[in-house]
Amino acid sequence: LNRRLAEFGTTIFAEMSALAVRTGAINLGQGFPDTDGPEEVREAAVRALRDGRGNQYPPGPGIPELRTAIAAHQERRYALAYDPDTEVLVTAGATEAIAAALLALVEPGDEVIALEPYYDSYAACIAMAGGTRVPVTLRPHVGEGASSFRLDLDELRAAVTDRTRLLLLNTPHNPTGTVLNRTELAAIAELAVERDLLVVTDEVYEHLVFDGEHVPLATFPGMRERTVTIGSAGKTFSFTGWKVGWVTAAPALVTAVRSAKQFLTYVSAGPFQYAVAEALALPDTYFTAFREDMRAKRDVLAKGLTEAGFEVFRTAGTYFITTDIRPLGVSDGFAFCRALPERAGVVAIPNAVFYDHRDEGAPFVRFAFCKQTGVLEEAAERLRSAF
Ligand code: PMP
Ligand code: GLN
Repeated sequence: LNRRLAEFGTTIFAEMSALAVRTGAINLGQGFPDTDGPEEVREAAVRALRDGRGNQYPPGPGIPELRTAIAAHQERRYALAYDPDTEVLVTAGATEAIAAALLALVEPGDEVIALEPYYDSYAACIAMAGGTRVPVTLRPHVGEGASSFRLDLDELRAAVTDRTRLLLLNTPHNPTGTVLNRTELAAIAELAVERDLLVVTDEVYEHLVFDGEHVPLATFPGMRERTVTIGSAGKTFSFTGWKVGWVTAAPALVTAVRSAKQFLTYVSAGPFQYAVAEALALPDTYFTAFREDMRAKRDVLAKGLTEAGFEVFRTAGTYFITTDIRPLGVSDGFAFCRALPERAGVVAIPNAVFYDHRDEGAPFVRFAFCKQTGVLEEAAERLRSAF
């Protein structure tokens, strides 16, 4: 293994899901729903397979039906107009979109700013691209009701140097559940324009916002031409195994990302693209029901974790809750998560893996709530009994 990758070991999600399987514990670690997405969307995939649509290499940028549906989705929800032919690219999940964007846009030695804690593939992809990651840490702030993690805009401004090439953003934010508000996004946009930065913004949880609203960074003045926006059917339609994601951006940026994508996977799985094209055209009632269902799940798990003695941070978006374990009398999230299956029959993720400043992240532990209500109630009961 080369030096760029050696520090990353095995992704925490694989490690913790294996632990869940081994111990039979309830897996609230890796973020995947335990209920598949809409039946009609599954049927659409079956039909595509059966009718022989997409069983051979689909077009490199993605099938036209899906690119058109992605553009229509951005237009309908955010009034962002993208040309399906030149400004949309289908990828093998958001994961490939992130990798291809970084490989295409970062020169060796460029600095890439990422919000810390960051989704684990960010660090690895920045490294594979030969970039230098510059983390800007989100920190807990006491708010109305519960605390949440916030971005310090001054710290972000101070992190930009002459070598900064790109800002890698994520809102709604995994693992903290923070949703950047308009004021924060406007300040980020101003900074990007002023310092001539590219922005890759991971918005895979765009439909899971419970408090506030999701505002794409690309809607801010001067941003459309410098922003690569990433979405995921895995997250939006609960088909994480399908690995269909996408990029929307100005033509030059899409061309760049595509240049990398063509040599990573060449194309993304065909029949699923037909199904996702239909899914994106589902009526608003689907998206609303999905969000409200997740909101109810969030509330069940937040209540259980609070009763078990955790400090629970407010999840404004995503399907994760970040907690602080210090009220339980411990402060090492790694040790806590390794012992948790044995102690309580539950698996969670230590947020420290998402930090360069491991000490900052040490006491935080993430729980996923994209699970059936009965499963969340059982997990809560186990945690209440254990602590
Ligand atoms: N970005 C974030 C913030 C995520 O949480 C995930 C996890 N699924 C991804 C990207 C990857 O998405 P996909 O499964 O579409 O590759
Ligand atoms: N995005 C999901 C999470 O944060 C899992 C993705 C993965 O396993 N790579 O838990």
